[in-house]
Amino acid sequence: ATRFALMIVPAAADDERTHFTDTFRSVDPKAPALSIGELSTQRGDGIFESIGVIDGHPQQVDAHLARLANSAAICELPLPNIAQWRQAIAEVVLHAERGESVVKLILSRGVEHGPMPTAWATLAPAPDFSAPRERGIRVVTLDRGYDSGVPERAPWLLLGAKTLSYAVNMAALREAHRRGADDAIFVTTDGFVLEAPTANLIVRQGDTFVTPAPTGGILHGTTQLAAFDYLAQQGFETRYEVIPTDSLAHVDAAWLVSSIRLAAPITAIDSVPIPADPALTHALNAYLLTPHD
Ligand code: PLP
Repeated sequence: ATRFALMIVPAAADDERTHFTDTFRSVDPKAPALSIGELSTQRGDGIFESIGVIDGHPQQVDAHLARLANSAAICELPLPNIAQWRQAIAEVVLHAERGESVVKLILSRGVEHGPMPTAWATLAPAPDFSAPRERGIRVVTLDRGYDSGVPERAPWLLLGAKTLSYAVNMAALREAHRRGADDAIFVTTDGFVLEAPTANLIVRQGDTFVTPAPTGGILHGTTQLAAFDYLAQQGFETRYEVIPTDSLAHVDAAWLVSSIRLAAPITAIDSVPIPADPALTHALNAYLLTPHD
């Protein structure tokens, strides 16, 4: 359950104020707070971020705010004032308990015919991801229905923006469950790997770790960035690469990574067993569970 909620009157990106407290209003997280005309609820017309919080420390705030700004640019929403959002995050994490929590940032196009966007931030305890982290997950590949040229050819599809329109992502998870798997990996019609409905994929090939390039079709994951930092520190090579779907059967290990789940080792892709690396998975999650920026 959401523990704390803050409504935000979004400041212009170039507003040079240093204190934004008077643009924040805490609201009862159990009470209704949005207008019936909200375009985020009517059309999913908005963007969001989910930030992991460890013992009250929000992880990788800069990377999340950079992605929020990128999503806003793609969706032609007013660019976020980074200092204001940073203060909003600092305010909501004051309500975190020890252990893992999640901060959500939401920027919506606002109320129908309204003058400005709606924005809010929440804090909630994180769901328990210990089972997928330790026991791993089975995944299936699912056709995303477009080829790898679509992000460039059809920018109005908003690929690469973290929009609130996650109905397709949730439907893909239900399809994965129907097929007896825990999660999905989206692939293009021309045979390349994209991302999972709520995570990025990292595969191991020998001592090299590879993830698809965030060239517009997928989100640039903050957890993938942190994982690559850790792997590079350990002396491994890390690379952004085009990954053919049919190469997934031959990887030396694979993980889905995202802010709240962290690294979930993949035990099978389309029923083909994938080798496990429990020691590395454990060390990677220990790193991701350490407060870092
Ligand atoms: N790709 C999608 C579609 C996502 O929804 C997410 C996050 O939830 C990610 C990738 C991973 O991003 P992050 O590691 O920043 O959570």
